[in-house]
Amino acid sequence: MNTFRADLHCHTTCSDGSLSPEQIVRLAVENGLSGLSITDHDTIAAYTTAIPVAKELGLKLLTGVEFSAEHKNTSIHVLAYGFSLTNVLIQDFCDQHTLRRRERNQTILTLLKKEGISISEQELHAEYGPSSKGKSWGRPHIAQAMVKKGFVKSVEEAFRKFIGDGKCAYAPGKTFSVAETIELIHAANGFAVLAHPMLIDKRSVAHDLLNLPFDGIEAYYAKISIERQLHWKRIAEEQGMMITGGSDFHGQLKPNIPLGCSWVNEERFNELMKDDD
Ligand code: AMP
Ligand code: ZN
Ligand code: FE
Ligand code: FE
Repeated sequence: MNTFRADLHCHTTCSDGSLSPEQIVRLAVENGLSGLSITDHDTIAAYTTAIPVAKELGLKLLTGVEFSAEHKNTSIHVLAYGFSLTNVLIQDFCDQHTLRRRERNQTILTLLKKEGISISEQELHAEYGPSSKGKSWGRPHIAQAMVKKGFVKSVEEAFRKFIGDGKCAYAPGKTFSVAETIELIHAANGFAVLAHPMLIDKRSVAHDLLNLPFDGIEAYYAKISIERQLHWKRIAEEQGMMITGGSDFHGQLKPNIPLGCSWVNEERFNELMKDDD
């Protein structure tokens, strides 16, 4: 029996996960995975430390990143896989996102202040490290700080009342369209995959996205009913697109979702892996 399993979606401390790149590689091996793609939000910084550890432990690493994008005023995540880490287009795009996030986070903190919620950049810096090249805070960090200081009871409440899409203290800042994100991934010789389509609220937006030149759809996604996963698997098959899957593991930031709880088999993993060294 082939026991190869690869989780193609997870986050480290380089974005909003709670484990370091080294810790996540070690956990992947402990959880019995043979392959992994680290897909931090808008950064590939994790690979610098993840690669040597994965090599040492015999874990196959597929390059990946989860880009933030927008389509018809809806926030959409686009996964990129199989590109070279030295590709300047990908590196430059990640740098642009880091800048976008830094400016956007400042605006969010200003908007929160107007709501009587005072959180400073220094506090976030002290708790989560500096927001610098290759590493930037996200809304989950701000939400956690709001919980810690007693402004809200939960991260969920922070998003629902203040910083969720369209809420009073949310500012998207500069945005990149899904179409231009896919174009960039293709120019960088990578695969573009629509992340967790089942989380897109507006059905019309989800189906409109299928007209864009995605290479694959993330049909296997933790915590979603098997019926809904199979629905998206069928759509991928109808569209002639690849089928991918992953846990979207964040560690403490999203407890109850273990690394490896969604995965793909060896055949699907190798489709995305360009060279096999
Ligand atoms: P950002 O990338 O900084 O804009 O933050 C978006 C991230 O926040 C998403 O990738 C989710 O992981 C997380 N998120 C979005 N909505 C919620 C919510 N209602 N509760 C908890 N986390 C959320
Ligand atoms: Zn996240
Ligand atoms: Fe996502
Ligand atoms: Fe994710």
